[in-house]
Amino acid sequence: MARYTGPGCRLCRRAGVKLYLKGERCYTPKCALERRAYPPGEHSQTHLRRRISDYGLQLAEKQKLRRAYGVLERQFRRYFEEAERRPGITAENLLQLLERRLDNVVYRLGFAASRKQARQLVSQGHFVVNDRRVNIPSYLVRAGEAVSVRESSRALPPIVSALEKAGARRLASWLQIESDALRGRVLSLPTRSEIDTQVQEELVVEYYSR
Ligand code: SF4
Repeated sequence: MARYTGPGCRLCRRAGVKLYLKGERCYTPKCALERRAYPPGEHSQTHLRRRISDYGLQLAEKQKLRRAYGVLERQFRRYFEEAERRPGITAENLLQLLERRLDNVVYRLGFAASRKQARQLVSQGHFVVNDRRVNIPSYLVRAGEAVSVRESSRALPPIVSALEKAGARRLASWLQIESDALRGRVLSLPTRSEIDTQVQEELVVEYYSR
């Protein structure tokens, strides 16, 4: 399945929650969801009253979570299968796996304005994990690992700009940042209460368990 290249705000309006796909704009009153908090489309407001089936709700939550992290369908299913194999609650395992992606950690640390931009920057090789260059966005960080901007990439405009504006976001409690060193650390793996993604993850599990 191809990656969605249409307007990001449309996906947020369809999901009914902010997916934070557009960087800085998402944290300002310019956010499309704040200005038009109803689904896109000519007849969207009449459709609001339509009853949605259980399957429809499960599908919507799955799409919402997948799009928020910018993961393609096949890979998302693999995350679900891995979450199921792990001990503990599958829904929480799934969220934790998504949060541990290197592109997500780079975004959460404020080195990129969005997960999409973080994915590009990681692919271009601008980050090191424990002093080893890693250019795989899906790399899963572990507790205790340090994620830093490469020495030669410190003046890169998108990284500098993202850091300037990162103050508008709250740093996740499972991460720590040394702003001067452009280095972040994973203090521990995130629990559900430390992940602010607005999703009913148990519906995603129900979707794949049908
Ligand atoms: Fe657009 Fe970002 Fe607002 Fe979503 S959160 S509607 S991507 S500006």
